[in-house]
Amino acid sequence: MKMDVSSSGTPPTRPQGTKLVDGFGRNVTYLRVSVTDRCDFRCTYCMSENMKFLPKKNVLSFEELSEIIGRFIERGVTKVRLTGGEPLVRRDIMALISRLSKHLDGNQLKELTLTTNGSQLARYAPDLIENGIRRINVSLDTLDEKKFSDITRRGRLAQVLAGIDAADKAGLKIKINMVAMSGFNDEEIEPMMIWAHGRGFDLTLIEEMPLGEVSGNRSKSFLPLRDVRDKLASKFSLEKIDHKTGGPARFVRIAQTGGRLGFITPMSHIFCESCNRVRLTCTGKLFLCLGKENNLDLREPLRQKGLAGLDAALDNAMILKPKGHDFDHTRKEPAIDRHMSVTGG
Ligand code: SAM
Ligand code: SF4
Repeated sequence: MKMDVSSSGTPPTRPQGTKLVDGFGRNVTYLRVSVTDRCDFRCTYCMSENMKFLPKKNVLSFEELSEIIGRFIERGVTKVRLTGGEPLVRRDIMALISRLSKHLDGNQLKELTLTTNGSQLARYAPDLIENGIRRINVSLDTLDEKKFSDITRRGRLAQVLAGIDAADKAGLKIKINMVAMSGFNDEEIEPMMIWAHGRGFDLTLIEEMPLGEVSGNRSKSFLPLRDVRDKLASKFSLEKIDHKTGGPARFVRIAQTGGRLGFITPMSHIFCESCNRVRLTCTGKLFLCLGKENNLDLREPLRQKGLAGLDAALDNAMILKPKGHDFDHTRKEPAIDRHMSVTGG
């Protein structure tokens, strides 16, 4: 069990009851699951060129993943997001999605969703709809073919756009996620917004986070979304709206396009006080905060003591959830060694 309480305030006390409530009184209702740390892309801000992936023998089976996720749902989690790595490259992924979708019937689970790079959507979009998925996030940082292959190192824009078309046709609601990077796509934010809103998609901008060693200099590419927002506001009317997705994005409506624009600002604005999220890796580690190392293993308690072991581990986990993170974009080295693909976005 690892713990870092450096910026966590007073050490919390053990929570009571079956719901997952952390030591700061926050209800944990949102579970993100990285079903694989592998990916068909190598986005420069997410991975290094030569990534070392987790050994396959350590990866949880679908039975184990379903058991753990099911227990979270029993204990009050209402939203599950599958992520990665690229969730749709895990072999036979629809078998896991189909199992999890059963929880939607009982109304305990309100939403099952996923974040994807879109490369496999053309193949899977109809299956996703059939299994109760209604909304997905698709990551897309540029609409320029050459820049797309540069940033993803091995992706093809046409394949992703075809995936987005297939998802749209199948009836999935789409939100585009765009990591805003100075000197790379800052000039493309407005055209991306016009394109996304023209297609009826929401667009969320994300500040780059210092997770894992990558080849670029993050302190140079960091783009504060406050500045982006000010620039957009000089040309468009940004209307405050109360749209909530259960995640950290704050939304406005753009009067001129009628579409929604979200801002995820982990670096320039701390949103930790309302954090309802925890993250499970494909090897069964539970991370309590994206920006801290606090984590604990769920695999061994489950294997050795079954659901009772799992429940005890979840109670312990609530004590480990820190009050917040303290990312600093001016530092050259990563704040956290772990890449985003291990815990998922
Ligand atoms: N492969 C899928 C995808 O790209 O959508 C899911 C996993 S990916 C790690 C989830 C999200 O995290 C993506 O939107 C990606 O752009 C974002 N991301 C990855 N590394 C990041 C970083 N260092 N800072 C901010 N966002 C990051
Ligand atoms: Fe893969 Fe997603 Fe990371 Fe890009 S951001 S390398 S698509 S996991």
